[in-house]
Amino acid sequence: EVVLALQGVEKTYNRGKPNAVQVLQGVDLTVARGEVVALVAPSGAGKSTLLHIAGLLDTPDAGSVRIGGAEMVGLSDRRRTAVRRADVGFIYQFHHLLPEFSALENIVLPQLANGVPRDEARSCAYDLLTRVGIAARADHRPAALSGGEQQRVAFCRALANAPRLLLADEPTGNLDPATSDQVFGTLMELVRGTGLSALIATHNLDLAARMDRVLRLDKGHLAEGL
Ligand code: ADP
Ligand code: ADP
Repeated sequence: EVVLALQGVEKTYNRGKPNAVQVLQGVDLTVARGEVVALVAPSGAGKSTLLHIAGLLDTPDAGSVRIGGAEMVGLSDRRRTAVRRADVGFIYQFHHLLPEFSALENIVLPQLANGVPRDEARSCAYDLLTRVGIAARADHRPAALSGGEQQRVAFCRALANAPRLLLADEPTGNLDPATSDQVFGTLMELVRGTGLSALIATHNLDLAARMDRVLRLDKGHLAEGL
């Protein structure tokens, strides 16, 4: 079962202008159910652009983007937003947690936006925090948490609505090497435990080697392996 499929995806910024940047040129990519795929790319190669297109935050100039078999290109913004909220979880290098809310509340809020009743959302959030080993931190605000704990909360938030696809852009890139290694281990356990599919961009080749498959993005094209 293919969860994410990109075919012939092209993207140029400032198209038709002198400062045009051709970022993606005929990118094909599939991620199967339960598969964890590493995306390795030199800085500026278009990794964020690719993740944003896969996550329906941006649209390609040409090509097809399918999530769970359904074509996303050409859908209304409203439909795309609905699919994104229900089916896609995002993790960034920086946690982007809401500073005035507790760890628990940061995981509850996206569920409320998705129509989940508050009690159910709270119990799901608490369960996720338990799985990443920081249930004791549930009532702390982000500023009171360590960098590794903040990222763990961000992982829980990304998984709160039980998406089928997780997209991560340097999820441990802001942490020191030892913490990064541990936190990445937690992320992998969480992903494996839910049978989720993931596309994880990283510069860290040791982390990439721990995933099922490595894709390299260079000069607008994707290739298998390092
Ligand atoms: P990466 O995540 O691999 O560093 P990005 O996808 O952010 O790369 O960017 C790829 C290229 O596209 C870079 O050259 C960047 O400067 C350019 N770029 C990204 N976003 C825009 C934009 N909104 N307008 C113009 N150029 C952009
Ligand atoms: P919400 O349900 O909170 O309104 P959205 O549908 O706006 O969420 O966004 C869904 C996910 O996409 C969130 O994880 C959010 O952080 C991320 N997101 C939304 N807009 C952008 C953007 N312009 N750039 C990067 N990430 C975004």
